[in-house]
Amino acid sequence: MPQVAALPSFGIVCSAGKPGQKGKKTAPETKRGDDSMGFSGGRKEIWRCVENCGACCKLAKGPAFATPEEIFTDPTDIELYRNLIGPDGWCIHYEKTTRTCSVYSDRPYFCRVEPDVFNKLYGIQNRKFNKEACSCCRDTIKAVYGPHSQELYHFNRSIKDSSSK
Ligand code: SF4
Ligand code: SF4
Repeated sequence: MPQVAALPSFGIVCSAGKPGQKGKKTAPETKRGDDSMGFSGGRKEIWRCVENCGACCKLAKGPAFATPEEIFTDPTDIELYRNLIGPDGWCIHYEKTTRTCSVYSDRPYFCRVEPDVFNKLYGIQNRKFNKEACSCCRDTIKAVYGPHSQELYHFNRSIKDSSSK
């Protein structure tokens, strides 16, 4: 597992829609088959968080992304989420020098990339979790670091490599 502690607040970036709601989610960059694993160029992808990323800990990414109000139904979650946003848009618990989370073991549930969280927030079925998690990471990394960034290259390579180990 990566040492990076920055698991997402994917709410603002996930391409999947919230149940019964049309949010301002980003669309996946490329179309993939309706499989649970995720494929790219014929190679199976297995989601994993990678070191030295932390893109999902930038919580304010601009108007193209869904707001906390569009993601959460619980006002407590909205308040918690908004309270995490620092003046520069990054989470106040994000350690920029190490690209890690300073409260990793106690991070909010919505920072956890897990099937149950995706199901709760976006209505994503467990069998589609892997594909959606990969898509969410790509969209997030592109938005924060750019479509030609080393971070995106590293992520894409990591999820492909992991499938062949
Ligand atoms: S965007 Fe994805 S790879 Fe990057 S820190 Fe977040 S979960 Fe990990
Ligand atoms: S608490 Fe902040 S730094 Fe930690 S994982 Fe969540 S968004 Fe990232």
